[in-house]
Amino acid sequence: MLYYCIFARMNSANIAATKELLSEPQKIVIIPHKNPDGDAIGSTLALWHYFMNSGQEAVIVSPNDFPKFLKWMPGNEQIINFESKNQQAKAALEAATLIFTLDFNHFGRTGQLAPILENSEAKFIMIDHHQEPSDYAIVTYSDVSMSSTCEMIFNFISYIDTTDKITPEMANCIYTGIMTDTGSFKFRSTTSQTHAIVAQLIDKGADNMAIHSHIYDTNSPSRLHLLGCALNNMVILNEYHTAYITLSQAELDKYNYQKGDTEGFVNYGLTLDGIRFAVIFIENKEEGIIKISFRSVGDFSVNAFARTHFNGGGHDNAAGGRSDISLSETTEKFVSLLPSYQQQLNT
Ligand code: 5GP
Ligand code: MN
Repeated sequence: MLYYCIFARMNSANIAATKELLSEPQKIVIIPHKNPDGDAIGSTLALWHYFMNSGQEAVIVSPNDFPKFLKWMPGNEQIINFESKNQQAKAALEAATLIFTLDFNHFGRTGQLAPILENSEAKFIMIDHHQEPSDYAIVTYSDVSMSSTCEMIFNFISYIDTTDKITPEMANCIYTGIMTDTGSFKFRSTTSQTHAIVAQLIDKGADNMAIHSHIYDTNSPSRLHLLGCALNNMVILNEYHTAYITLSQAELDKYNYQKGDTEGFVNYGLTLDGIRFAVIFIENKEEGIIKISFRSVGDFSVNAFARTHFNGGGHDNAAGGRSDISLSETTEKFVSLLPSYQQQLNT
């Protein structure tokens, strides 16, 4: 079968350096960002399977737990959660000679792992598609045009080896990350190349129908009721083409919030005609913060907005951030910022 082969390249020096490192036995640790999503878990698992099949020693250490809707993924039970298996995670990190950081590009995104990574003697390889990578890796494969880190893992394996090594387990993991990070193949970052890779993944054994159903058809009644509450709370500011949602800790508790339950809620704002900027503010009393998700359509950069005002970042059309003031103070601050963006939001 013929497929497109125009990969966004990892440069040849990086490919050679990676191959040389992997020609020796390494103690590899693979790390996703905190609160890992489908792309973070999909990419770390795919790479882990690849190393296990290549005779390298590898483990995945996650900064914290991941949502139940990802807990069917092949190999997920091997992931060492730094919070619940702290000693095992620390021992793996101490022994590491080579650390892959996937789907993030500065140590701050790993929460409690950050100080350990900063002091590690291991060599780092970064594979990531977020903007403004920091400079900690000896190999930085960073491409902000990529739909997902999973798409980059497919390319990475093609550069350092051959995609013939992609097993059905790996194909399922990679497909999941591409699907979740592209909003099921509809975001702007979805290219013909993304679809060409997805086609190959299906041929390699990705069960696309089963994956969709695992991720999207596992609602609990309480999650749907929480969604009802979120939609009810939505504030629509037509003059700024903006819609925002709040969820207080009391509301989360009332609807028995489980990790991952609010995934995707922010996108509902963008389904309104004329709305270009959608935000969700979620109170987390335990951490004493408001976690914020920003989404946009078109040229308004939520990465810049999140970086400038809410200690965050991400991509042009999807970013996250946080605030240390109360929920109501946070939304007041947010609304007070909008007039200075009115022109950008109007075009
Ligand atoms: P989400 O809103 O789904 O948590 O994240 C949207 C995008 O922004 C993801 O690519 C995520 O990795 C990134 N992101 C989320 N929170 C933060 C943050 O606090 N800092 C940075 N730099 N990126 C974030
Ligand atoms: Mn991603």
